[in-house]
Amino acid sequence: MKYGNDERKLDEIRELAQRAAGSAYAPYSGFRVAAVLEGADGRLWSGANVESAVPSLGICAERNALFQAVASGAREFSRMLVYSPDGPAYPCGSCRQALLEFCGSETQILVMSPDGSVTGHTLGDLLPCAFTLPHPEGWEDLS
Ligand SMILES: [Zn+2]
Repeated sequence: MKYGNDERKLDEIRELAQRAAGSAYAPYSGFRVAAVLEGADGRLWSGANVESAVPSLGICAERNALFQAVASGAREFSRMLVYSPDGPAYPCGSCRQALLEFCGSETQILVMSPDGSVTGHTLGDLLPCAFTLPHPEGWEDLS
C-alpha cells in the first residue's frame, strides 16, 4: 500500500486523537471520546468529551472540536476522526446534525477502534434525510 502524504496526515490525526482522549473528562460514563476535525486547508482541531453532573451541560468530543474550529474562523472541513480507547464511538445524533451545518454530506467520518483500526463513513451515510434550512447568508444547501 502506498504511504503518501494522506497516510502521514492520517497518522498525525490518529496520534492527536489518542492524545486528546487523555484529556476527556468522563467520570460519569467512564467512556472517553476524542475527535479530530481536519479543515479543508489541513489545519487540525481536537476535542474531548466533557461531562457534567447535569448531563445536558456536558459536550461531546465531536462538537467540542467543531465549535473550536468554527470559533477560530474555519468554515470548510474535509474529515473528522472519532476515537475512544473504551470502544468504538460513533457521533451521536446531535453531533451529526451540528456537523452538517458546516460539512457536506460527503465529508468523511472516520471511526477508530481501540485497536487502531479505522472504518470510514460519510456524514450522509450517518445522517440520511437530514433536517436543513436555507442558510440566511446564502450558503449552499449541504444536504
Ligand atoms: Zn455527540
